[in-house]
Amino acid sequence: MNEKSRLKVIDEFMLDQDLPLDLDDLMMVLAEAFRVPIALIGIMGEYEEKFKASYGLDTTSVCREDTLCSIVVKTRDQLVVSDATQDPRFKDSPLVTGAPNICFYAGTPLVVNGEAVGALCLIDTKPREIDVKHVKALERIATLVSQHITLSNEHEILKREHGLIDKSPIVLATWRFDTSLNLIHISQNCEYVLGVAPQDLLSGAVQLNDILSNAAEQDFTFTMQAHLEGVETHTCRLQIISPTRTIWVSMISTASFREDGTLLSVQAFLFDTSDQKFVEDKLNKTNSRMRLLLEASELGTWDWNLQADVNQVNKRWCDIVGLEYEYYDTSSRFFKQLIHPADFINVERKLNEHLSGEAKVFNTTFRMKHSSGKWVWVETYGKIVEVDEGGNPVRVAGIHRDITHRMENDLHERKKTQLLQFINKTRASYLQSNDLTAACQSVLSELIDISDSQIAFIGQMRDVETQPKLFIHAISEIVWDSKSFTQYAEYRKRNLYFSSFDNLFGQAITSGEVVISNTAGAHPASKGTPQGHPRISRFLGLPIKVKDRVVGIIGLANKFSPYTNEDAEFFQPLLDALAGLFYAVDLEQARAEAEEKLRKLAMTDPLTGLFNRRAFIEQCEDMAKDHCSIFVVLIDIDHFKNVNDTYGHDAGDCALKQTADIISDAINDGDIVARLGGEEFAMVIRGECEREAKKRLDSLRKRIAATKMSYKKDTLQLTVSMGVTFVDDGFNMDFSALLSLADQALYDAKANGRDRIEWAPFTKKAV
Ligand code: GH3
Ligand code: MG
Ligand code: MG
Repeated sequence: MNEKSRLKVIDEFMLDQDLPLDLDDLMMVLAEAFRVPIALIGIMGEYEEKFKASYGLDTTSVCREDTLCSIVVKTRDQLVVSDATQDPRFKDSPLVTGAPNICFYAGTPLVVNGEAVGALCLIDTKPREIDVKHVKALERIATLVSQHITLSNEHEILKREHGLIDKSPIVLATWRFDTSLNLIHISQNCEYVLGVAPQDLLSGAVQLNDILSNAAEQDFTFTMQAHLEGVETHTCRLQIISPTRTIWVSMISTASFREDGTLLSVQAFLFDTSDQKFVEDKLNKTNSRMRLLLEASELGTWDWNLQADVNQVNKRWCDIVGLEYEYYDTSSRFFKQLIHPADFINVERKLNEHLSGEAKVFNTTFRMKHSSGKWVWVETYGKIVEVDEGGNPVRVAGIHRDITHRMENDLHERKKTQLLQFINKTRASYLQSNDLTAACQSVLSELIDISDSQIAFIGQMRDVETQPKLFIHAISEIVWDSKSFTQYAEYRKRNLYFSSFDNLFGQAITSGEVVISNTAGAHPASKGTPQGHPRISRFLGLPIKVKDRVVGIIGLANKFSPYTNEDAEFFQPLLDALAGLFYAVDLEQARAEAEEKLRKLAMTDPLTGLFNRRAFIEQCEDMAKDHCSIFVVLIDIDHFKNVNDTYGHDAGDCALKQTADIISDAINDGDIVARLGGEEFAMVIRGECEREAKKRLDSLRKRIAATKMSYKKDTLQLTVSMGVTFVDDGFNMDFSALLSLADQALYDAKANGRDRIEWAPFTKKAV
């Protein structure tokens, strides 16, 4: 036997406390019935036996070791000793040798909760016998005492609990049903919780109905009626109006039934829930205010029960997508059908992220199909508002906001940025390559993309043989028949021009105004689409202008929606940029032409149109790079001073010109001729054959001599002297050295009588 658990039961049942069991009367009756002087109930503590009830004994406890009861407890069996003074087990016990001088002992164990906690015993100071019948009776009495101990304990606990209730804010009430329900108990705290004295309610001086509001009275009657009809538990909320205050109480009631099913009693807990009610009311008020706010703020609301698959929406929600509220289909399938296919996956992903707990809210933007066919952008913001016992979402609710306007603005902003980027790209491309056509071609696909069009071209006005034509820098592929194929091939060769302006795009060029046509063939300037040409359903012609002068055009066609004036405005920065580029190209061209003119001027002798000395040396140096063999010839007119003196300076000039013409005439391709100054010319002739060269030069000399030059009425004839030098295998030598060799030879020719050719000492190899 486990002593520990035995002691524990004694403790639990508070048997070790000095609380009497109120069984002293029973002990007296027992003693008299069994005709013994002592009867007692002893509880066996750890060290001593405590007498919880006794008759014929003064002491309240004895040392455990000495007692006979301890044997009863230990063996859990009855012990009967007829004469302890003769029993070797007990004869020396102080309780036998001294007070109370036990001689006869009959004890039976008291078993509580399965543990022998003590004994019920009869004691006599004289020896005696007891028959089995009486021993049995003693045993039964011990069982009853055990039950009494258990019940007393339960009673104690109940008393304690009631005491707790009396101090708690929860009122406990019990009604008994006989012919009607009567309040038979109500806890003391009733006064401070409900504001009514319990005795008033119990006596009937105050009826519970008297303090209930009308609605609460009905609810209360309904509750009791429900119990009468067999309902076991019921909850309701009642409003109590006492003279001092008004409160809300919640009532949870439980009914007990007899075996035949009729109502026995109703027990109820009532507790003050005014605070909760206040919060609830406030919440409701806030909610209805919120609802009003939602309606006013143009927000659509949705509330989707996943398990029932019912998606409740408000009228505004339907308005956003142009649906009739009355005919709205609440299945989620219907809702999903409205989502733009391109956005669908994202919406599902976002929803699942929230349902799985990964994301705190369901928040995303997507497009939905409006009943008119257009797409509306909506922003949704939702949250799980209900979960089942397993924590799985049951309801998700949220709001819808129409953000189409904002999204379109955003799109417009994005497009603006894109346009600026691609204007920059055009500029950069032009600056890098100096090639406007390539720059235009590089941005054509972006132009098509940004304008939502199918076809685009960029053209620039150019005068071709005094005829204004539109040069096509860039165009979408336009091959649909052999003619357009040829045109496209010309385009690839950068040679495509449109010369007919009696049409839609021509209108933009000739008028300088934006041309918008959204219905094929409807525009007065429309000439219809050429045979085989992809259908032009819509067209936007944007003239590119420099100071009111049309310098080009951007043509766009077949946008998915109508072209508008806003489109034209949108593209203005591009038109300006292109105008700037076209202008820059024109300027650049003019500058280059002027420069070329100047360069030529700087190289030319104005009188004869031949190269001057500087140009001559430059040309010769260029020629030196070819590593060819050459003859360098200096030609000087003989006695030219006389010509001037005789015929005048103008005649001299005229003669110079004519001589220059004859010399120019005598040269071949690749040869160089120049007027070095005064009446001196120079030639460089390619070739290796000295004989050949001699022949050519001689013929030139003769031709000059034979030419009769006329100036006004005068006719004059000239002769020239020449000095020649030859160099082969590229003249690595200093060119001025070559010239001075030729000059030396010329000097010789003069010295030797003029009208003749002298050769410098043979210079086959560089000197
Ligand atoms: P020589 O046979 O020795 O070469 O005699 P020359 O008179 O031709 O030679 P000179 O050097 O003495 O005179 C050259 C003249 O050529 C002097 C000048 O009046 C004339 N002259 C030089 N440049 C021009 C020109 O541009 N126009 C005209 N009309 N005369 C020029
Ligand atoms: Mg001279
Ligand atoms: Mg001369």
